[in-house]
Amino acid sequence: MRAIARAFSAVLDVALPRHCAVTGEPLPPGSSVPLSSVVMRGVSLIGADYCMRCGAPQGEGVGVTKGCQACTHVKRGFGTTEIAAAGSYADELAEICLALKFGGERKLASVLAAWIYGVLQSRGIPDKVDLVVPVPLSALRRLRRGYNQAEEIARELAKLLELPCVGALRRLRDTPRQALLSPAQRRANVRDAFAVRPGAELKGKRILLVDDVLTTGATLHSAARTLKRAGAKAVFGAVAARATGDGK
Ligand SMILES: [Zn+2]
Repeated sequence: MRAIARAFSAVLDVALPRHCAVTGEPLPPGSSVPLSSVVMRGVSLIGADYCMRCGAPQGEGVGVTKGCQACTHVKRGFGTTEIAAAGSYADELAEICLALKFGGERKLASVLAAWIYGVLQSRGIPDKVDLVVPVPLSALRRLRRGYNQAEEIARELAKLLELPCVGALRRLRDTPRQALLSPAQRRANVRDAFAVRPGAELKGKRILLVDDVLTTGATLHSAARTLKRAGAKAVFGAVAARATGDGK
């Protein structure tokens, strides 16, 4: 009986969130977002000062750059025309990403997608893409987690963009967790880690490649290269959070 009550309460939580997905505290009735006002206030989204090459936020007044301190070491770029991040991987935004990735809080994907959508709109990217593609997890990791957080975000983002969301990539091998590796190891780790799914029509397509977090960009770069090899005309990157500091 208790299990049924729990399941019912979970269904209600999806329809109308009653608890904050990060702190667990009760939300006021009628809340449309599964986050408390304190968590919402702690999220700072990237404004007008950003690097279009790697998505990193810049100090106020720097404006739009095409290369910055966070991406200067990436000589060949990321294989992308432009990368848009909703915010920095820090504070409450990092907590939200973690709750989506490891806490099973899948409903946070629509919140992150809405923030990414806002950034894409402000940069005129929606008019430049035809297709949304998530960065895939390996089959084993996806099975263990039950879902792919990047795919959850991509699907919600595609709805807002009114574009198809296509799982065009597959991850060929289960790579060691990126967080434990140095930047050079990360690049080697994900090199040729992706393949295009049979039947995916990518020739001449302009693709929005979606992931939850971008740290070194090695994963995004490898995925973008695979898409281009399959004939994609352009690849834009979209992530919820850009990590620049301590390699989280
Ligand atoms: Zn940069």
